[in-house]
Amino acid sequence: MLDDQNRLNDLITKLRERGCRITPQRRAILCVLARSDGHPSVEQIYERIKPDFPMTSLATVYKTVTLLKEMGEVLELGFGDGSNRYDGSKPYPHPHLICSHCGKIVDLQVPVLSEIPEQVGQETGYEIVNHRLDFFGICPRCQQESTGPLRRL
Ligand SMILES: [Zn+2]
Ligand SMILES: [Zn+2]
Repeated sequence: MLDDQNRLNDLITKLRERGCRITPQRRAILCVLARSDGHPSVEQIYERIKPDFPMTSLATVYKTVTLLKEMGEVLELGFGDGSNRYDGSKPYPHPHLICSHCGKIVDLQVPVLSEIPEQVGQETGYEIVNHRLDFFGICPRCQQESTGPLRRL
């Protein structure tokens, strides 16, 4: 998609401005992050690039993600079980829908939700600097595949 390509170029430019060398491995990591399909974990990013770059280590992926997080170019979604997931496509707070069965995370495009932070600010007088809005459910694919009782969080 064109948006993914733009986001990839954006990330590359920002890293270059910080003096980072864009190796083919790093480019592959950025490519996965620019799409952030399903909101991957560091391990999942590593698994996706491993076929093309078998010499890349998990530490390299981790370092790149940490750097981008410090730069505010990737959104980290932490969970109670210690698994962190990442969105390099939209690095700002936005609502997510999480399948509690397969762990897939998708962005929620429900316009009314984007008004919530501003409304909370107006109601309370707080200056809202960050927010997190997660919805949990069972995705259509998991509903079809599941025969036994569904696992709930
Ligand atoms: Zn699912
Ligand atoms: Zn997202």
